[in-house]
Amino acid sequence: MPAFLCNGMLGTLCKLMRMCGFDTAFSNEGTAILVQARRENRVIITRNTRFQNNADVHYLAASDPLEQLNTVITTHGLKTNIKILSRCLECNAPLEPIERSAVQDRVPYFTYQNFNEFSECPVCHKIYWKGSHYTRMINSINAALRRIDPAKD
Ligand SMILES: [Zn+2]
Repeated sequence: MPAFLCNGMLGTLCKLMRMCGFDTAFSNEGTAILVQARRENRVIITRNTRFQNNADVHYLAASDPLEQLNTVITTHGLKTNIKILSRCLECNAPLEPIERSAVQDRVPYFTYQNFNEFSECPVCHKIYWKGSHYTRMINSINAALRRIDPAKD
C-alpha cells in the first residue's frame, strides 16, 4: 500500500485518509514537498495546479473532501485496505492497544464505564475508543464510498 503526502488545501482529506488507516503525511511547503515525498517514498496528493503535470503527483480537481477520498481510494485500489481506528488523526502514528485499567484517569467516566477496548497514540498519547466519533468516522467513509461518480483525475 502506498504512503501519501497531502499538501495545502487538503487538511480535511488528510484526516479522512488517516481515519481509513492510510499512512498520510501533511505539509504546507511548496516545492519542498517533492523532496520530502521522494525521501519518504510518498505519493503527493495536491490541488495545487503547479504540480498538475508532474507524473509523480496525484492532482485532485474535486474540492469536496469525500469526493477526494473516493478518488484516492478508487485510483490506488485501497478499498480492502481500510482499517478504521488504526492511526492517530493528529500525528499519523499507528495506534497501539492499551489496557482498560491504564486509561481510567485519562478518559471520561462514562467512557471508562462503557467501553472495553482502548488504543493510544505513541506520539501524542491521545486515547481512542469505539465511541460516537468512531461511528461518525464509519459514516463519513461509507458516504465517500457511496459516491458513484468520482471526479476524474
Ligand atoms: Zn497522535
